[in-house]
Amino acid sequence: MALEEYRRKRRFGVTTEPKGAPTPRKRTKKLRFVIQKHRASALHYDFRLEWDGVLLSWAVPKGPSLDPSVKRLAMHVEDHPIEYAKFEGVIPAGEYGGGTVMIWDHGTWIPDDPDVAKHLAKGDLKFTLDGKKLSGSWVLVRTRGYQGGKSWLLIKHRDEAASATGDVTIDAPRSVVSDRLLAEIAFEEGGDVRQAVTADPPSAVEAALRDPRTAKRKRKRAPAVWHSNRPT
Ligand code: MN
Repeated sequence: MALEEYRRKRRFGVTTEPKGAPTPRKRTKKLRFVIQKHRASALHYDFRLEWDGVLLSWAVPKGPSLDPSVKRLAMHVEDHPIEYAKFEGVIPAGEYGGGTVMIWDHGTWIPDDPDVAKHLAKGDLKFTLDGKKLSGSWVLVRTRGYQGGKSWLLIKHRDEAASATGDVTIDAPRSVVSDRLLAEIAFEEGGDVRQAVTADPPSAVEAALRDPRTAKRKRKRAPAVWHSNRPT
C-alpha cells in the first residue's frame, strides 16, 4: 500500500489530480468508497475502497451490475491517495488517464471480516456497501492465471439491493456530487465534450437537451456582438 506508482505516472502541476499527503492520517471513522466513471482512452469505472491510508483500486470496464448472475471484470490497479475520492473533473489530454472523471457513486463500506490484508492475499474480499446507488453485499474475487493476478471479478450478492432488471449504469448515469452527466463535466471544466458524451447514455443526453433548464442556462460572458446604436 504505497503511492509511488500513482505518483510516478503523473505530472502534478499539469494535472489537477491530488498528489496525496506525505503521511496519510490513519482514520478511525467509517471507511469510504468511491466509484469514478472515467472516460479515458476507453470508458471504465474506477472502484476504490479506503483501506490502510490509501484507496485500493480496481478498474471495471463495464461498471457494476446489480444482477447477482453478472460477473464484471475488475482489473486491480495501483493504490490512489485518499484525497482522490473527491476528484471530479478533467485530466489534461496527453497526461496519464487523460479524459473526464465523474464521481458516479460514493459512501461507506464495511469488510465482512476485519482482516482485509488476508482476504486481498487470498483473492476473495466480501464487503457491504452503503452508497447512493450501490448498497448491500458484494464480493471481489481474483480469477486464476489471467493477467498476472491483476484480474478480479466484481459480483453482487443476492439480497434486497440486488436486481436482475435494468442497468444501474444506464438508469443512474449522473454524478452523485454535482448531478452532471460526463459531457456536462467536460463542458464546464474545459475537457473534450465529444469524447465524454460517448460515455453518457444517449437517452440521458436527449433528456438533458430537452430540459428547459439547459436552454435557459446563463451565459458566462456577454456575447460578442456589435451594437449599431453605439454612440459615435
Ligand atoms: Mn481510471
